[in-house]
Amino acid sequence: MKILVINAGSSSLKYQLMDPDTQDVLAKGLCERIGIDGRLTHKVPGREDKTFEIAMPTHAEAIASVIDALLSPEYGVIKSASEIDAVGHRVVHGGEAFNGSVLIDEKMMAALEACIPLAPLHNPANITGIKACEAVMGKDVPQVGVFDTAFHQTMPSKAYIYAVPYEFYTDNEVRKYGFHGTSHRYVSARAAAMMGRPIEELKIVTCHLGNGSSLCAVDGGKSVDTTMGFTPLDGVPMGTRCGSVDPSIVEYIVNTKKVDVGEAMNILNKKSGVLGISGVSSDFRDLDAAAAQGNERAQLAIDVFCYQVTKSIGACAAAMGGLDAVVFTAGVGENSADLREKITAPLAFLGVKVDHEKNQVRGKETDISADGAAVRTFLIPTNEELVIAQDTAAIVRGL
Ligand code: ADP
Repeated sequence: MKILVINAGSSSLKYQLMDPDTQDVLAKGLCERIGIDGRLTHKVPGREDKTFEIAMPTHAEAIASVIDALLSPEYGVIKSASEIDAVGHRVVHGGEAFNGSVLIDEKMMAALEACIPLAPLHNPANITGIKACEAVMGKDVPQVGVFDTAFHQTMPSKAYIYAVPYEFYTDNEVRKYGFHGTSHRYVSARAAAMMGRPIEELKIVTCHLGNGSSLCAVDGGKSVDTTMGFTPLDGVPMGTRCGSVDPSIVEYIVNTKKVDVGEAMNILNKKSGVLGISGVSSDFRDLDAAAAQGNERAQLAIDVFCYQVTKSIGACAAAMGGLDAVVFTAGVGENSADLREKITAPLAFLGVKVDHEKNQVRGKETDISADGAAVRTFLIPTNEELVIAQDTAAIVRGL
């Protein structure tokens, strides 16, 4: 079976053509600058990468150029578009309407559109991607939506209700939703497999630390709490997002800096996090380099980030009343041995202990726990595309 996985953003679109059973990636790539001019980067394992300037006024031209690249006699990987059995889409927000992946039909599209107010930046792009695929590939190719929020729909109400007037929830859908669910689901399942134990009996804290970061308490294979909230702005500090702050700060910034609420939120989303603290960069590689040269604010940004992640691991363990494993994933979690060690060092009292030598690894599934540690610590590269392809295949096979 061949599944085309699509992750559509407002001006970009990532794709992978995969076999969900063998897990082989046949080709993958990125369309950029959609609506501006258009550039396609197409990668086939074992072959040279190709880059093309192609006019992409809308997502439909982007999808058409992806199909052309996949079909190309020179650098393509399939002979006919009919070899694509189905398309799986990453969708950011499914609200309370979606607690799992779904086949997209008219009813589902309407439910998806109803979620737009909850994710005004992300969902419209995802919907555009779905419509573009239908326009280019036709109605007969099944399309499946896989939601970032779905995995967290198992959270109990005591975890997702905010202490604000209850009508905010009943009338306005204000609650914690959580994000990165596909990643938390995948790495927690891999951790259980690496431990050789049923996930139903495990308490796992998954730390997805990338540009955006969130942690999840996975109890018995189900999300019972997570650090992101109503939006992905909440939780631990991120590259440019502030994470949890006192909400009064918004009014205070508006009054003292003489900006409107929109600009205040823009600052908290795009100019805060480790970039805001350091004034150097949102990228931890830059922060490491600056801190090594004595930049105190870069060091402070790293310290604040690690401290909040450490505290959140403790909070997740408390939410579950126990801890069997901690998992690190995404750009920072997979690549920075130093940060993994700094984050876990204060958690010895919980039984978390990382082995310094085993930890000197990147991007490869590894048990980095010290011998005899009561809690296992893992590095597990995330693979959201594989989950999307496998969910899509399962749904299509059931049709
Ligand atoms: P996104 O959330 O955009 O998917 P990623 O998961 O790809 O992000 O993470 C990107 C981040 O990973 C970069 O901004 C950088 O901070 C971090 N990163 C990548 N490589 C390293 C490294 N070797 N050391 C520290 N941080 C790294």
